[in-house]
Amino acid sequence: MKAEIISIGTELLLGEIVDTNTSFLASQLSVLGIDLYFTSAVGDNPARLQGVLKQAWDRSDIIFTTGGLGPTQDDLTRDAIAALLGEELKVAPQLKQELINFFARRGLEMPASNVRQATLIPSSTALVNPQGTAPGWWVEKEGKIIVSMPGPPGEMQYMWENQVLPRLQKRAGAAILTRMIKTFGTSEAKVDEMLADLTPSPNPTLATYAKLDGIYIRIAAKAETEEEAREMIARREADVRAILGDIIWGVDDDSQEGVAGRMLLEEGLSLAVAESFTGGFLTHMLGTAADSERYFKGGLVAATSEVKIALGLDPNLANSEDKAEVARAMAVLARQKMGATVGIGIEGESGVEPESGMVPGTVFIAIDSEKADLHTVRSYSGRLYQMKRRAAYYALFDLVKLLKE
Ligand code: ATP
Repeated sequence: MKAEIISIGTELLLGEIVDTNTSFLASQLSVLGIDLYFTSAVGDNPARLQGVLKQAWDRSDIIFTTGGLGPTQDDLTRDAIAALLGEELKVAPQLKQELINFFARRGLEMPASNVRQATLIPSSTALVNPQGTAPGWWVEKEGKIIVSMPGPPGEMQYMWENQVLPRLQKRAGAAILTRMIKTFGTSEAKVDEMLADLTPSPNPTLATYAKLDGIYIRIAAKAETEEEAREMIARREADVRAILGDIIWGVDDDSQEGVAGRMLLEEGLSLAVAESFTGGFLTHMLGTAADSERYFKGGLVAATSEVKIALGLDPNLANSEDKAEVARAMAVLARQKMGATVGIGIEGESGVEPESGMVPGTVFIAIDSEKADLHTVRSYSGRLYQMKRRAAYYALFDLVKLLKE
């Protein structure tokens, strides 16, 4: 089956947003064994959108679109598909009622313009969107398919997982299961190299993805039954685990803060953090994690040594050149001030800009606990911008490793 992806929205052409929807869909299609031949981006212009759709219709079997399903006049996807297929848009009463209910649950009246989102053509069925107001469309005509999904990546991915993928699997007459293995602290090239013996396999397949919280490896298996696919995944996961060992921190929907939180809860521990250099990123991650009030006491965020002193750090330490020592003192301060059993301290420094133009950064992470064997300081270096953002992940990864010991 020849596929094509069209992302719709003038923002994409102005460079205001990066087209992550296309890369998401492209990675999903390869698993399904659907051949992706073309991708394109088009602005909110009726003639050009129709032109791109017509071209795709003529050369592909299945077309995926994202964006342009909103309620405003420049949301043109539905109109363009209707025009392409020569069909008339009509309001579907049930969809309209669902939209009215969506607004009513928020204590609002549905704006009149939103009725556009309740329209269908004879060849389309609605794909429900509990995450937003724009239903998607599944269109089938003359042996071809158009799948239209909303632009916001969260809505699109939810619709993909829950509405589109099951339909595609059913058509493929096969069970396709995937498992995401999440690692941290090792480069994508290194992970690829480590898995080199496994990657050529056509089924199950392995694919690596670089994310902020590490390198992910997706195992995908295709079989006649779900049970068979599940067994194939389990066997391949065991192979991957045997090779990658303790750089693996989670699977599927796991987040590092979620995994760390689960382990702290299991051991009856609580956590407090004191951060400099990272602007409270770790505090934010922990503070916004589901259920974190059960183990996370809080975070102190300082940007200057005056603030560190005001928070209770020894003035000699606050101005110390020995950043590892400062990180350790901050971990102790966090733990003691907030009455937690484990404290994390983060301190960092930026380097001198070398000729390459790269500004290096080094982050020092200390973990302090009532249990003496949980006392450690580690440092990591890299690009300053990356180190600031990655520090929270390093800290959580180190914490999980220590708790496992
Ligand atoms: P809505 O009902 O929210 O208006 P929509 O289907 O009309 O949904 P758009 O208005 O085209 O979607 O896009 C809404 C937002 O979704 C954009 O502002 C952008 O943040 C995000 N978005 C749209 N397309 C993409 C894309 N291809 N990749 C990443 N983000 C996107």
